[in-house]
Amino acid sequence: MGEPHVLIIGAGVTGLAIAHGLQQAGIKYSIFERKEPGQLRSKEWTMGIHWGLPLLEGLLPAQIAVRIATDGAVDPSLKYDEPPNNGAYIFDGVSGDILKDLNVSGRIVRVSRQKLRALCSEGINVHWGHALLSVECDDHSNSVTAAFSDGQSYTGTVLVGCDGPRSAVRNHLFMPDRSAATARPMEGIVTTSMCVTYADPNVATFVRSKTHPVWCIAISPVMFHFMSIQDVPDPERPETWRFFFFNSWLGEKPHDTSGSAARSVLLERAENLAEVREPLVMSSGLSRKA
Ligand SMILES: Cc1cc2nc3c(=O)[nH]c(=O)nc-3n(C[C@H](O)[C@H](O)[C@H](O)COP(=O)(O)OP(=O)(O)OC[C@H]3O[C@@H](n4cnc5c(N)ncnc54)[C@H](O)[C@@H]3O)c2cc1C
Repeated sequence: MGEPHVLIIGAGVTGLAIAHGLQQAGIKYSIFERKEPGQLRSKEWTMGIHWGLPLLEGLLPAQIAVRIATDGAVDPSLKYDEPPNNGAYIFDGVSGDILKDLNVSGRIVRVSRQKLRALCSEGINVHWGHALLSVECDDHSNSVTAAFSDGQSYTGTVLVGCDGPRSAVRNHLFMPDRSAATARPMEGIVTTSMCVTYADPNVATFVRSKTHPVWCIAISPVMFHFMSIQDVPDPERPETWRFFFFNSWLGEKPHDTSGSAARSVLLERAENLAEVREPLVMSSGLSRKA
């Protein structure tokens, strides 16, 4: 095969950033995503981008890179190169005291996974609804052929797997022993995550002002708690703010993981949290035990 042609599997931020980089370098590529565009809003969380920021910016065209801290950021109204926005607090979850003020130098932009993905997809022609099924390498012609769920197949010179934790590309690399490639769930750790919007603007303002404008961690003997602002559509209207919570602890996954059962487990774990943490639990639609 003559001209290089890169096949990118997965249109998450990684695949899209690589596509932009190749496009800028004038290298031919095709990018495939198993989902349809409308299915991408399922999982949301936040990511802090620090030392990797210049690298990401370097892959993207200038007019997109310059919008990471606005269109990609959790709160576009913040400046991410000065304290406290480029840092975070670690709280003692029981006393509410700040154990550590994470004072980081430089710029850290906290982005929404969905917003950054939408930004990075601009100008990229994704083949949606293409789930990779198998990969065939031909050493003779130095080519690789990817076959997809819709019956189509594409041939290129290089295939890049950006298809996440349950990677079909990794499965192929480990063939025939697929079990070595299978992502194994962590044993003995329970994790929960959720996004919350407070109907009462006073609660939203209270939570954010008592914790951190961007993100913080609280540690108690029974729970690790992470929170960040997820989205600020209107800085003047706290009832529009969205928060992200991630909680984890050592133990076995509860048998019943339905909404109400999970909430009561979480409430029990949060029983001794300091006052500044309390609204986080209350506001997620939970009420304390009598
Ligand atoms: C709670 C949480 C907090 C995090 N915080 C940070 C942070 O602060 N900083 C940081 O840098 N990182 C953070 N991360 C990690 C970061 O989110 C991931 O590394 C990043 O989102 C991975 O992006 P990706 O594009 O590689 O994969 P993904 O976003 O998983 O995208 C993979 C894509 O491949 C597609 N796909 C899968 N299988 C196939 C197939 N067979 N065929 C075609 N397409 C397929 C999927 O549908 C998906 O769209 C965090 C992660 C979590 C869960």
